[in-house]
Amino acid sequence: MALVKCEDCGHDVSDRAQSCPKCGAPMPKILKEDETECPFCRTTLHVDALVCPSCDARKGYTTAKGRIYGKAATIFWGIILPGFFGLLWGVGLMTSNHFIGGLVLMVIFSIPIVLSVYRLKTGPVWYKAE
Ligand SMILES: [Zn+2]
Ligand SMILES: [Zn+2]
Repeated sequence: MALVKCEDCGHDVSDRAQSCPKCGAPMPKILKEDETECPFCRTTLHVDALVCPSCDARKGYTTAKGRIYGKAATIFWGIILPGFFGLLWGVGLMTSNHFIGGLVLMVIFSIPIVLSVYRLKTGPVWYKAE
């Protein structure tokens, strides 16, 4: 059993204690390198875990209508689909004397693409299923 210093009062506290016995401050949980913590229920999870077994939170890139999307689904629904339809529809309008309309449409369709690329770049986050 190792002792760590309480950040609030400096009291020596067991590293297994959940809170400081002297001042009651919550102790930071010491996680191993391959461990992470569920942000909702603070259960210790493996870093590769995609679902929290105790509160059913899920790790993903995007959430829509209570569903959490993984990498492949985010690429498909957020990038490929709007990219394909935006381009098809936008170019269709542009080539039929609705240049501005087509341009606006392509800008609108690029919003989910930009968001999805951003989400994929920042990495997965935990979502709590509704
Ligand atoms: Zn303390
Ligand atoms: Zn949890």
